[in-house]
Amino acid sequence: MKLLKHFAFEAGHFIPDHPTCGQIHGHSYKVTLEVEGPISPSGFVIDFNVLKNTVGFWLKEVFDHKFLNSSFEWSPTAELISVYIFDKCYHLLGSITQDVKVVSVTVWETESNAAVCTMADWALFRHMCKLP
Ligand SMILES: [Zn+2]
Repeated sequence: MKLLKHFAFEAGHFIPDHPTCGQIHGHSYKVTLEVEGPISPSGFVIDFNVLKNTVGFWLKEVFDHKFLNSSFEWSPTAELISVYIFDKCYHLLGSITQDVKVVSVTVWETESNAAVCTMADWALFRHMCKLP
């Protein structure tokens, strides 16, 4: 079964050489984490609180009220942010359980614009976020 968990953070950024996004501005980002695993005998796939206390805390610490161009060596587009967050979720979840896998990480830059990173995208593009 799949679970969805929503997170949110506020951050500033600009996209170098972009005609409109080249100016420094901010977004109220939303992040949707999609995980999948079996329902355990206790009735859970994974406790939502575990996701909040791991992924949620990390997101707040790394992204909330940050200027993303100063935080990262790569251009902070929704696409690359989703890849970067997928990588962290993959490793965080892997350290907690082998049963539950990350299916996708969606980064909503606005209500109408989002980037979705799957396992295949993470494999293809994580080098663009300087990830091993
Ligand atoms: Zn922007």
